[in-house]
Amino acid sequence: MHQPVYLDYHATTPLDPRVLEAMLPFFGPRFGNAASRSHRYGWEAEKAVELARRRVAELAGAAAREIVFTSGATESDNLALKGAMEAYRSQGNHIVTMATEHKAVLDTVRRLERLGARATVLPPERDGLLDLDRLRGAIEPDTVLVSVMYANNEIGVIQPVREIGAICREKGVLFHCDAAQALGKVPIDVAACQADLMSFSAHKLYGPKGVGALYVGRRPPVRLAPQIDGGGHEWGMRSGTLNVPAIVGFGEACALAAREMDVEAARVSGLRDRLQARLQAELPEVYVNGALEHRLPGNLNMSFRGVDGEALLLSLPDVALSTGSACTSATVEPSFVLAALGVSRELAHSSLRFGLGRFTTEEEVDYAAGRVIEAVRKLRELAPV
Ligand SMILES: *Cc1c(COP(=O)(O)O)cnc(C)c1O
Repeated sequence: MHQPVYLDYHATTPLDPRVLEAMLPFFGPRFGNAASRSHRYGWEAEKAVELARRRVAELAGAAAREIVFTSGATESDNLALKGAMEAYRSQGNHIVTMATEHKAVLDTVRRLERLGARATVLPPERDGLLDLDRLRGAIEPDTVLVSVMYANNEIGVIQPVREIGAICREKGVLFHCDAAQALGKVPIDVAACQADLMSFSAHKLYGPKGVGALYVGRRPPVRLAPQIDGGGHEWGMRSGTLNVPAIVGFGEACALAAREMDVEAARVSGLRDRLQARLQAELPEVYVNGALEHRLPGNLNMSFRGVDGEALLLSLPDVALSTGSACTSATVEPSFVLAALGVSRELAHSSLRFGLGRFTTEEEVDYAAGRVIEAVRKLRELAPV
């Protein structure tokens, strides 16, 4: 039996074989602790970590000194929000975010609220974008931080991060941006978007799982209260022995993305457009969720009227797809992201998220399109609306 066609690149991406190759020695002879200062094993590990740090920094337009390695974007989001709210407690206690953020941000905001913070959760416009005047109006004298993601993990919509950053700078509040889906897919420049804090995850760009980074700006310097105390690693902002093989893989993944992003984005968005065109040509009453023109190259989120998304997934065993985010798929509730966009319950329940990426081929897209068309027709025949 062949493997299902993988179209769930927002949940995770396959490890690039070149990344695996770069990591392997660090599971073997180069096993040193990057904090060991007294021998060559340690020096080798530290050198590899520092190369990786420069590569991650370069892909985001940051300085190496501004990159703090973490266990992934979930931890980076937690460190950014909890760390900043704690460090700036004397200046305020209000946080602004959006209803379509990842749970790593929204649940962290909920926790901060339970601990006494005040939060404003802004709704998106119908197309998924943040209205900038709404943001302006939400920033109050005691606002410490605004957290708005770069690109959404369900609908792929890219927020106007430069404008958001400019507003935050003008108002004198910190700007945190969860860029887990954006790094390596679209050009990122932390300076251009005037971000103070930005979260990254290696496994969303063909690197290993369990490693990520938080950009902590130094121009102007951002203070953060560490959320993991210990040996003072990562300038005291995140203690714990560094996961050297994973960090090396993250660095390699960033170096590859820097070289290949332009060509890859053009190819992948071409495939996405092909998939969309085919579905819309052959099926009536299908709708794209979220703005098409501000979107990740590999994302397509569509609703198929009259069809239950879960039933649709079940009738597509040889296509690996998702109805929404992997993190909420354990529940039968429709996507909270689509709900926030104002998509009706019925259409939200009939949505599929297609995630295309580096290893997706034209044959796979055509095959998946064929299977989806077939399955939608069959389900509509079984239960006509
Ligand atoms: C995947 C993802 C995360 C979580 O990243 P992990 O490294 O898996 O913890 C956070 N935010 C967004 C937008 C994501 O897509």
